[in-house]
Amino acid sequence: MTNPLIRQKSYVNGQWVEAESARVHPIVNPANGEQIATVPDFGKADAERAVEAAHTAFKTWRTTTAKERAQILRRWYDLIMQHQDDLAELMTLECGKPLAESKGEVAYGASFVEWFGEEAKRTYGDAIPTPKNDRRILAIKQPVGVCSAITPWNFPLAMITRKVAPAIAAGCTAVVKPAEATPLTALALADLAEQAGFPKGVLNIITASHGVDVGEVLSTHPLVSKVSFTGSTPVGKALIKQSADTVKRVSMELGGNAPFIVFDDADIDAAVEGAMASKYRNTGQTCVCVNRFLVQDSVYDAFAQALAEKTKGLTVGNGLDDGVQQGPLINEAGRQKVETLLKDATDKGAKILTGGQPHALGGNFFEPTVLTDITPDMRLSQEEIFGPLSAITRFKDEDEAILLANDTPFGLAAYFYSGNLARIWRVSEALDYGIVGINEGIISTEVAPFGGMKESGLGREGSHYGIDEYLEIKYLCMGGL
Ligand code: ADP
Repeated sequence: MTNPLIRQKSYVNGQWVEAESARVHPIVNPANGEQIATVPDFGKADAERAVEAAHTAFKTWRTTTAKERAQILRRWYDLIMQHQDDLAELMTLECGKPLAESKGEVAYGASFVEWFGEEAKRTYGDAIPTPKNDRRILAIKQPVGVCSAITPWNFPLAMITRKVAPAIAAGCTAVVKPAEATPLTALALADLAEQAGFPKGVLNIITASHGVDVGEVLSTHPLVSKVSFTGSTPVGKALIKQSADTVKRVSMELGGNAPFIVFDDADIDAAVEGAMASKYRNTGQTCVCVNRFLVQDSVYDAFAQALAEKTKGLTVGNGLDDGVQQGPLINEAGRQKVETLLKDATDKGAKILTGGQPHALGGNFFEPTVLTDITPDMRLSQEEIFGPLSAITRFKDEDEAILLANDTPFGLAAYFYSGNLARIWRVSEALDYGIVGINEGIISTEVAPFGGMKESGLGREGSHYGIDEYLEIKYLCMGGL
């Protein structure tokens, strides 16, 4: 399979480079195990060079006007959209998601580039009424400096643009380490950034076969001012600790354990539709995918049956094939985790309504599955499933639903369905989550603040809040007037 956007070198200081060690690591298609390409396996010294390049570039980039930065971002946005089909195919090849979802991700990912290019021009400060007549007080916003971004494989494009676009728009420079499984989409983005006219060193994309060494440089190097990470909670905690020695700013978008509550006053058809969209997106492998369905007694059976019926109808296969709705899991470890969680649940009394087996296609494929009689002691109630298992728990009343929903250290996305306005306000305010979908299963958009409470993270991405993560506020006191 040849794709015109495949690049097999890292991008540092405007150059396409190998690792100093000349080591490479293979990128394989999770749908069939075939090797697609190889990319450099960077070590610490390679990563340090990228940070130094970003630091040199920052000295000039920070002096550009917002309008200049907006124009370059706009060109990058246009190029990403012009290459939507090739980018989408590349993404499906390396991460397995169905082509239609990959195309959706290109548009979604590009929307952050468009949005933050526009926001670059609106990073206003304040003129603050003075407490003394001989002085004036101002607050201005300035770029924080070199930003590192460490991103996961489940959104190979959007998790990069969501961090890099606000950073670059703010006047920062960036070093990105994409996930080891999905660096090709990232390198394609670097190619398009080069074509868009990014000056050398403003955006650097470095690849590695594992996150630890490069991640250490990106979170400890004194020239890095800010670390933005999306991935698992344990790695996020390690990065926060590593960043502490040099007091870096951090943005963390970590794991979730999303509840999806269906109250007895909900429109059940709409709830099932929202459930399908939220649960099975990217084969269950997103941090905002439903992890726990909580359904009120009187509508429990109807909801479970309808969800099972729809789940049974999902088409599983290679994401490049027409009509496929569910791709493979990212790798064997991902599939084994699903099997382990499923076995733990059935051992403790869960019942399988549909699915429950490795898929006949073999490899990393697993049958979309619906389980009922789920209880909080089962591992899949406590851990992120990251796979196509719908696990349904029964509740009696609103208080119990909220108690169950909040009974987790995580707090990223929650969803609920209800037709009662007073309940909608009560429940929205009671849920300890950064994002709440109300009668809606798909919540991501560049115009809204995305991020988690509790151990799901720090900071917000997207919206007008998102650029503040890359800006310092400086107070100017002008005296002697
Ligand atoms: P996921 O379950 O999404 O793979 P991870 O947290 O393992 O979540 O990975 C997300 C990103 O973090 C990837 O780019 C990965 O290479 C990187 N990573 C993994 N371990 C570390 C580490 N110890 N330090 C820095 N980055 C890491």
